[in-house]
Amino acid sequence: MTATTVRNFPMLIGGKWVESDRLLEIRDPQNDELVATAASGGAEQVDAAVEAAKASFKSGSWSRATQAERASVLRAISEKVGDRLDELVELEIMANGATVRQATGFHIGYVAPHLEYFAELADKYQFERPAPRATFPSLAQSTVRKEPIGVVGAIAPWNFPLLLGLWKMGPALAAGNSVVIKPDEKTPLSTLEFARIAEECGLPAGVLNVVPGPGVEAGARLASHPDVGKIGFTGSTEVGREIMRLASGTVKKVTLELGGKSPSIVLDDADIETAVDGVLYGCFLYSGQICESGTRLLVPESLHDEFVERLVERTKTITLGDTRDWETDLGPVISAKQHRRILNYLKIGAEEGATVATGGGVPKGEQFERGHWIEPTILTDVRNDMRVAQEEIFGPVLSVIKYTSEKEAIEIANDTTYGLASSIWSGDNERALAMANEIEAGSVWINDSHQINCQVPFGGYKQSGLGRELGPDALDEYTETKNVHLDLSGRRDRRPYDVLLSHADD
Ligand code: NAD
Repeated sequence: MTATTVRNFPMLIGGKWVESDRLLEIRDPQNDELVATAASGGAEQVDAAVEAAKASFKSGSWSRATQAERASVLRAISEKVGDRLDELVELEIMANGATVRQATGFHIGYVAPHLEYFAELADKYQFERPAPRATFPSLAQSTVRKEPIGVVGAIAPWNFPLLLGLWKMGPALAAGNSVVIKPDEKTPLSTLEFARIAEECGLPAGVLNVVPGPGVEAGARLASHPDVGKIGFTGSTEVGREIMRLASGTVKKVTLELGGKSPSIVLDDADIETAVDGVLYGCFLYSGQICESGTRLLVPESLHDEFVERLVERTKTITLGDTRDWETDLGPVISAKQHRRILNYLKIGAEEGATVATGGGVPKGEQFERGHWIEPTILTDVRNDMRVAQEEIFGPVLSVIKYTSEKEAIEIANDTTYGLASSIWSGDNERALAMANEIEAGSVWINDSHQINCQVPFGGYKQSGLGRELGPDALDEYTETKNVHLDLSGRRDRRPYDVLLSHADD
């Protein structure tokens, strides 16, 4: 396949689909074949997109639309996304290597219901909140208004490009902002198609702009642009720090969803079958390339050998293969760079004294000779101070750590710079709930994992992030708060400075 035979995706700026001399090559991670190209933007295109977003915001076509009008457009987009699920799934998996089962059930499957939730918020969100009437220092009525910020920048990662982009576009649009989104350079296709759907559903021109491009150019310009009031970012902690630095020049608001090294804590009263399946699902879903993946397994010393034996048995039944086959459990990892990085971590683990209980390399077979494949791998003899326990590998690698008491399990779970998620496996709900109070993480799942529910907030403690996405307050992150004070006394001598002066006279 050559660049001339694959479909090219232009970018969307101010309601126009714009071609570019520079193209991003979109490659299928399972065989490294070129499957599409996309227009690549830099600072110039970001500037044009921000200008268009600013003009659309000022026009009021969206920012001053009624709540019901905004909700109705978002609902229409959600419905159309549902209708075109298969097409969006294909655009997602040809670029990010998710299996068709995962993408249909999760990556793309969640988009329509999450957008439906944002539409509901657009309808119900209280943009005006009257405060109790004040009698001191003067009789007055305050109204607290939540107003759209203006131009919002969104920067998304490659693992769930459309869903994580939506977590920013959805509340930003619901609140009346105009948006410029920069998808990751490897995976812009589903977001570009989503923007076409939004256009077809009547979202006014310029309200949503999509500029794929390199992070250091397009992303950095968006994060530092003086006319962008807010950046919603999902990605690595390292780039998250850079986003904060870039945004600080104009004191932009930021929401950061960053990395993780989440613990799965198995208690000695857990149902072993449930815990084994849950721990594997927690770590290996999408080959461990999920921010909240449970990549550290904390298991009691007394259960360790039996538990590891069951984990290894079950791991050997996981099938790797064609991402478009509904029977396939796991696909490849995203890129050659990430493949090298994961293999290097396995080398580091071996040097640190970890033992490979299963996996540990590239799977054998002709179909795995091209593309970026890694076997699901379990490392035992891991201590929590090792790099494989502390650093985000972002691949199918589970590090098993023994503990001897519940207190020690909590200490190990919290002994990390991250704090995104965690899971606890136990037969005793009260015991697990008590432990949940001690865990420093934005999500604690008891006898479950990867439970992303759009009705509850998601985000991280410590270096896993700043702010929260989803949940009933999602629009708070995309609004300014204004207090409008209306004097009702009509009397000059009730004004605060007169009160002060009259006190001075006493
Ligand atoms: P990344 O940080 O490399 O890239 C994320 C985005 O930032 C991309 O669009 C990239 O182009 C852009 N970018 C890169 N450098 C930039 C710069 N200097 N200025 C502005 N933008 C820049 O992350 P990734 O490899 O795409 O994604 C994997 C990471 O994302 C992991 O660390 C993972 O844990 C994290 N993640 C977090 C969540 C969450 O909700 N907390 C969800 C998914 C992924």
